[in-house]
Amino acid sequence: MKNIKNFNVRIILIFICILLCALCALPLVSCDKEQPQKGTSYEIWLDIGEDGIACTQRVNFVNTSEYILDELIFNVYAGAYSQTSPLPCTPQEEADAYPNGVSFGKFEFKGAYGDFQSCLYDALSNLITVNLFSPLLPSQEIAVDFVYSITPPNTNLRYGFNDVCLSLTGFYPQLCALVEGEWFFREFSQIGDPYFSDTADYEVTFNLPNGCDYVASGLSQVSSADGETFVTSKANNIRDFALIISPVLSRTETEYKGVEISYLGSDTQVIEYAKRAIDVFSERFGEYAYDSLALASVPFVAGGMEYGALCVVNEQLDAIDIESVTAHEIAHQWWYGAVGSNNLTDAWQDEGLAEYSTYLYFYDTDRRELAQTILDSAYNQYSRFVELGQKVGEPVKGMLAGELSSFASNYHYTNLTYNKAFIMWDAAKMIMGEEALQSALKHYYKLNRFAIASTNDLYASLDNAKKGSSALLKNWILNC
Ligand SMILES: [Zn+2]
Repeated sequence: MKNIKNFNVRIILIFICILLCALCALPLVSCDKEQPQKGTSYEIWLDIGEDGIACTQRVNFVNTSEYILDELIFNVYAGAYSQTSPLPCTPQEEADAYPNGVSFGKFEFKGAYGDFQSCLYDALSNLITVNLFSPLLPSQEIAVDFVYSITPPNTNLRYGFNDVCLSLTGFYPQLCALVEGEWFFREFSQIGDPYFSDTADYEVTFNLPNGCDYVASGLSQVSSADGETFVTSKANNIRDFALIISPVLSRTETEYKGVEISYLGSDTQVIEYAKRAIDVFSERFGEYAYDSLALASVPFVAGGMEYGALCVVNEQLDAIDIESVTAHEIAHQWWYGAVGSNNLTDAWQDEGLAEYSTYLYFYDTDRRELAQTILDSAYNQYSRFVELGQKVGEPVKGMLAGELSSFASNYHYTNLTYNKAFIMWDAAKMIMGEEALQSALKHYYKLNRFAIASTNDLYASLDNAKKGSSALLKNWILNC
């Protein structure tokens, strides 16, 4: 009886405890159930016709910052390809960029609608400014609808068409990145990658012209109506949306470790490089951030280019360069794609890491000699660059940080932003030790995924792994 009585008391006590715990836990439970803060989203509808593309676009902007905003500023990168702008490439690139002669695109702004005071498109700066009725407070949101049409130029640059494909990248009004409460933008630069934005969710619907294949950022759904094919591509947390359509190339799809890989082109070996890159970089830095990865081998003025969950690789490179460029562009899905950084003032931040990652790609896939060759080549190129500067009486300013417009030429930009920044990471590895550097990069990726990492965020991750490490980098980055 005693036992039973004690048992009953124990049951009552347990019941009271459970009740108290449940009551105590209530605020926590309700916190857990709270949805993560919703971010900015783009819905874009494209009507692709013979003479141009009619577009409607809804942007739902959520003020996830701590700042009060009076206006929204959108960058229309496609405007840089119009006749009123300087050519969007350097004079040295012009012949490769425009093999059929210089060609201009058109961006025709037809209107903006929504609950705001006014909207102005300035074709000289390629900016759209939306003035709000009342300041937008943190966590408040606003929807803006745009109507516009685009006519892409005939070019092998990032945006335009050629004999092989239509590249729709940077074709839409895109919110500038918000940095410390200010919309950050610069004049379109012929040097470097003059794009800079926050991440957002995208849903883009387009009609696929007859006989064409495509790759796009995100996962796609295909439907047919009235003899036409329609595609809707959705991607979350990407920094920009890209779509490549081709009347001559075919699409190949495969799934790898939960990532849908789609490829447009004839060199399906690129898919194997992509799988290796996903393996190496996921192991080195942290899991690949997206559920899809699209790749396209097309004519391109440079080696390749990265977009949100999509990489373009120049089809005319030789085999080893194709592999190396594929690895570099996929590395950008970690550096710039997931972990954003300011391309307009600190291009070294993502390019140096993409180069170092390419070295690791070969190193970790048992091609250490090749990895060493890539590293030696960066050292040699940078040494020649410095020597040449001394010879012509213009000693090189070795500072990595700086506005894109501050680089004298692509030659300067490449040697500093790619070669010197890559050498810097190799030096960091020697001084910090490989383990500490890898731990720093994992920390940097984990803390800044889907955000914009400042240089201080990078320094903090280095110091977190090994105290005082950032001092070495600052010396490389800021000293001439
Ligand atoms: Zn790059």
